[in-house]
Amino acid sequence: MSSIEVIEPATERVMAELPRGGAEEVDAAVARAKAAFPAWGAVNPADRAALLRGLADAIEERSEALAVLEARNAGKPIGDARGEIGMVVETFRYYAGAPERLLGQTIPVGGGVDMTFREPLGVVGLIVPWNFPLTIASWKVAPALAAGNCVVLKPAELTPLTALELEKIALEAGLPEGVLNVVAGPGSVCGARLVEHPDVAKVAFTGSTEVGRGIAAGAAATIKRVTLELGGKSANVVFADADIEAAAAAAPGAVFGNAGQDCCARSRILVERAALDDFLAAMAPHVEALRVGDPLDEATQMGPLISAGQREAVSSYVPDDAPVAIRGSVPDGPGYWFPPTVLAPVGNEERAAREEIFGPVACVIPFDGEEEAIGLANATIYGLSGSVWSRDGARALRVARALDTGVISINSNTSVRVSTPFGGFKQSGVGRELGPDALEHYTEVKNVYYATEG
Ligand code: NAD
Repeated sequence: MSSIEVIEPATERVMAELPRGGAEEVDAAVARAKAAFPAWGAVNPADRAALLRGLADAIEERSEALAVLEARNAGKPIGDARGEIGMVVETFRYYAGAPERLLGQTIPVGGGVDMTFREPLGVVGLIVPWNFPLTIASWKVAPALAAGNCVVLKPAELTPLTALELEKIALEAGLPEGVLNVVAGPGSVCGARLVEHPDVAKVAFTGSTEVGRGIAAGAAATIKRVTLELGGKSANVVFADADIEAAAAAAPGAVFGNAGQDCCARSRILVERAALDDFLAAMAPHVEALRVGDPLDEATQMGPLISAGQREAVSSYVPDDAPVAIRGSVPDGPGYWFPPTVLAPVGNEERAAREEIFGPVACVIPFDGEEEAIGLANATIYGLSGSVWSRDGARALRVARALDTGVISINSNTSVRVSTPFGGFKQSGVGRELGPDALEHYTEVKNVYYATEG
């Protein structure tokens, strides 16, 4: 078996070397999961809940080590990495409440009793990206296990380390052998094998829209259940009647967080023309002051990009003649650095405003009036997140309702909470993660009719 060299993006050095899984390893993991499923699906719900609570506690005990590993491998500031591992713990605790609450219905019918049950699917394949490695894995693993499924998790080849730790921690926390399996390897081999495998009932995928399209097509051959969390090009709509200082102070975090490698990045900042100059003037000091550097330095606010290839791709959106209005700075020396960059003004149809850049580049797009704002915000193939900033509450709510997007905040740029549904409209995806909605995607409804008359 060949090996994966795991690179630390802030130093460009190899931080780990591990065996590279292939189709054989996926087949073996699916076989282990299939063998474990009957017993796991039959575990008393209270016991399954206790095992998941135990797993949450075990992750919490290792949270500092996991945060350091994630910060180094994904190049994210240590403070952010701690927050993400905190969310992983919270996610397992939240879904530990689910096994005892997978309720069915009784339905009035003639001649007997009709009732529904939520049944697990069996073996589920979970394919995750490199930008929030363990967090996004937990959004899938926790509801899948809570519903009684067994899991084969495939992390991104660039960031497999915390997923492999999770597999070990789960065994130590008492999860039975075969319930949670991790295979690190290339997507085109290991991911593709999960998608085609006849014993995998469902694939849950987070990644690019392009790969997601192929997964949906591949899953059709075996009529697999599929949920997809894909790309985004979200709008941050700022009306002139908003608290401009507050909107301008919050905007950098919403697009430069995780060095812009965030599917929810509000990378199109739509500003009402009357407020454009004030907004840019208020935003500039926040961008220029961003501390870009060593992920393990407590003061760092933005780390490097994940790879040299990613930096090259991001650079292509900022040619020499790009309208750079604001730019931050980066450290000297090794590391895949790219400065936080604000382009203004940009037309909504320009490439930088149309395509998901997945790097720290924001486009500021002027608009006139509510109707134009809605039209521009919706003129995209994506529909994942977004924000509306206005002091007119009725207008803010009206615009939020008019935007074709799965997750939207008013006077805030937050996207994700463990207890609320997360997912995209249009080509940003299919299905919802987090909250109670996720459980529906890891169960089938069974309808049982019991004749009581005649
Ligand atoms: P990617 O699509 O290249 O890879 C994602 C995962 O799919 C990886 O594990 C990869 O190995 C695997 N994969 C690649 N080719 C495959 C194939 N042919 N069959 C099966 N699996 C395959 O994405 P990425 O570059 O790792 O992540 C960035 C993308 O993820 C961005 O587009 C971003 O918007 C998206 N994303 C979406 C969300 C969301 O919740 N909507 C969250 C995070 C990231």
